[in-house]
Amino acid sequence: MAFESLADKLQNTFRKLKGKGKISEKDLKDAMREVKLALLEADVNFKVVKDFVRQVSERASGAEVMESLTPAQQVIKIVNEELVRLMGGTEQRLSISSKPPTVIMMAGLQGAGKTTTAAKLGGLLKKQGKRPLLCACDVYRPAAVKQLQIVGGKLDLPVFAEEGCTDAVKIAKDGLAHALAHANDILIIDTAGRLHIDEALMNELKEISKEVKPTEILLVVDAMTGQDAVNVADAFNKELEIGGVILTKLDGDTRGGAALSVRAVTNKPIKFCGMGEKLTDLEVFHPDRMASRILG
Ligand code: GDP
Repeated sequence: MAFESLADKLQNTFRKLKGKGKISEKDLKDAMREVKLALLEADVNFKVVKDFVRQVSERASGAEVMESLTPAQQVIKIVNEELVRLMGGTEQRLSISSKPPTVIMMAGLQGAGKTTTAAKLGGLLKKQGKRPLLCACDVYRPAAVKQLQIVGGKLDLPVFAEEGCTDAVKIAKDGLAHALAHANDILIIDTAGRLHIDEALMNELKEISKEVKPTEILLVVDAMTGQDAVNVADAFNKELEIGGVILTKLDGDTRGGAALSVRAVTNKPIKFCGMGEKLTDLEVFHPDRMASRILG
């Protein structure tokens, strides 16, 4: 379950603190040390942890907290606020173009969940009354086009593909023309992923981006890979104009390191999260709800 092991540790720390009534400076320091360890064990970026703990400690050590009637509750409230801030504050919606179609380009490494998520996102937008078209531009993984057609079909979403064509830029351009001709107000482009970030991958993504001028590039990263996901996000973010991140497989991520670091490291919001393998398991990412999961 998402954040389970991090939640266990933090809740344990705060249970002890609540048991004390009045808390001393040492109690606070001990609790902050435990918070720091728990976050590091959750694979949160080291610098992010340092800044987080410093910020919470500064706010919590003031007289209005330490001398209040419920100091532990005040500390938990501060931790909650800082967790929400760390994950981006309020939820961030998709950018919608004033001139349809809104073009969403999915980017990410192979296996991150790009193809599945492209369809899930299409399904979510369809429920909101949009008319999405999926566009199959992953021309290197032979099964990817078929996979997009299958998941798209399950959600009753049209899929644009050019069988046998290996020119991803051309398919994206043709997909855009198809969306315009068929009154699809959203075009979701599934792109190729590689096992590692390489120049060829980035160049292709840049080429597609130059041609179709996406309203938004969404970076898909696998939450279960922790700091690797953050490093991947950082690398993509330096090369492409990323509009937001989709964290997949959060359902299986007991630690939460990517969810808690990716915003601070890339300065890009997490817009959606994948919460399971079913095609309906995509949610808008709500920092406040995530913080509540962590603190119970
Ligand atoms: P791609 O190579 O990036 O296109 O990745 P795929 O879309 O093929 O997904 C890789 C695997 O991850 C598939 O087995 C998906 O079912 C699985 N997957 C994707 N998103 C999620 C998620 O949010 N939760 C879980 N549990 N599995 C997911």
